[in-house]
Amino acid sequence: MDTLPNFIKEFMPVVEEKAKALNKAVWILETTGNSDAQDLVALLDTDLRILFSDRAIYERLLQFKEEKIEDPLLKRQLDNLIRSFKGNMIPKELAKEIAQKEAALTNTYANFRPVYKGKTLNENEILEFLKTEKNVSARKEIWEKSKEIGDKLAPQILEVIKLRNQAAQTLGYPDYFQMQLDLQEVDQNWLQNFFSTLSEKSQASYDKLIRDIEIELQKKYGIKEHEFYPWFWKDPFCQEDPIPFENSEEIYKSFDLLQAAKSFYQQMELDVESILSRSDLFEREKKNQHAFCINIDHCKDVRTLMNIKPSQRWMDTILHELGHAVYDLGYDASLPWSLRSPPHMITTEAMALMAGREATNPQFLQTIAKVPLEVSANLEKLKESAKRRQLIFSRWVLVITAFEKEMYKNPDQDLNALWWNLIEKYQKITPPDRKGHNDWAAKYHVGLAPVYYFSYLLGEVFASGMKEKIATLYPNKSLFSKEASQFLQGRLFFPGDRYSWDKLIEHVLDQPLSCDAWVKEFAY
Ligand SMILES: [Zn+2]
Repeated sequence: MDTLPNFIKEFMPVVEEKAKALNKAVWILETTGNSDAQDLVALLDTDLRILFSDRAIYERLLQFKEEKIEDPLLKRQLDNLIRSFKGNMIPKELAKEIAQKEAALTNTYANFRPVYKGKTLNENEILEFLKTEKNVSARKEIWEKSKEIGDKLAPQILEVIKLRNQAAQTLGYPDYFQMQLDLQEVDQNWLQNFFSTLSEKSQASYDKLIRDIEIELQKKYGIKEHEFYPWFWKDPFCQEDPIPFENSEEIYKSFDLLQAAKSFYQQMELDVESILSRSDLFEREKKNQHAFCINIDHCKDVRTLMNIKPSQRWMDTILHELGHAVYDLGYDASLPWSLRSPPHMITTEAMALMAGREATNPQFLQTIAKVPLEVSANLEKLKESAKRRQLIFSRWVLVITAFEKEMYKNPDQDLNALWWNLIEKYQKITPPDRKGHNDWAAKYHVGLAPVYYFSYLLGEVFASGMKEKIATLYPNKSLFSKEASQFLQGRLFFPGDRYSWDKLIEHVLDQPLSCDAWVKEFAY
């Protein structure tokens, strides 16, 4: 450990090997549900964490930092290592307690089913109910059922939240929210200002949209004014459009989704055949029912897991996951292994979201998917519904982010009151009387995917920024063109983790991230 280059030369190959093994175990687990693979994932995950928990190494890294490293790639690797180690410097007993409590929470989330009229309800059944049930009191009852998990888990979640705060405090942070942002290189004040500007600039559009929704829901359910309760929406958290464009399915049944995605990337001269040949694309027993992209070796082995069906959601998802995959294949091959990755999920999400949005773009559907003329009449409606979706989702991200910030600042306050105040403020939904309940704890992410939701909205905003930039540089070109592709490959993919995420965005857009392009695209 005499010099930083020597340390990296010794340490990183060990990490690389473990990480590759972990990725392969994850792949087997997710494609088969095999319980041996599950044990292996837990084991390798712990091994990897242990590699980053050695305090002597951490202190040596801090000394290297004092030595003022000049080489920018070495400096970046050092900063990343310091952040990785820092998050693992909490007392071992505390870390173990948090991990055990989180595992118990995961288990309850996965297995809890509320009982309605003597029958248990799973998540899909609740969603189906809220989509189709016309009776208002039945809707209310089902919605209340969907919150039962919150009351059951709130005391345990609260315990975990306080332990996380305790852990953050041992590292010198006021609370866990601030620690997480700092370890992700996100400035708290910047984030707060960014979201409040975005919220202000899109408020008029959201207000108009929510009035339209109210009128439609009033017609549908005969609701009185000021009784715009959450159970009139079609999902338990009001994060999706309650009045979606219902005839979209026929559009997505009229062409081959996978073929359309292939043509899309072919037009960008990006090869997705090698990705697809390694991927697991269709439904199967015991396989993970969602979708993800995994970069096994930070080199050529990039795979996606999907469960493709002919629907708008899956057209979006195929384009999305392949967006992550082409990004992962586009890093400068001369970068060290650890820098062949995005600097933050925000930048790869932006690419994936930008590609996914094409699923509702009439131009994509007509020229790439070659949707037959008789169904093309609906394409403009589809575009309008995509705009509504962005506005609605943005409010939901504002609620979660503000809630987490306040919750970690003071976990002993009346969290349910805080939750509903924020929902009323941002989503403009009438809070029902829920005294004595813990509706905030029913949202999986609050307990188990903390301080992450903000990335989704920043990804959407960056995606709009890139689209605008491409349109400015190449006025007559669409996203599926050689020009757009070269722009993305050169500016976004190639640098890998050479810069921090905000610097990379500046490098791509020639200016810092701003919400203006997103506002122009969706909140006009
Ligand atoms: Zn994604």
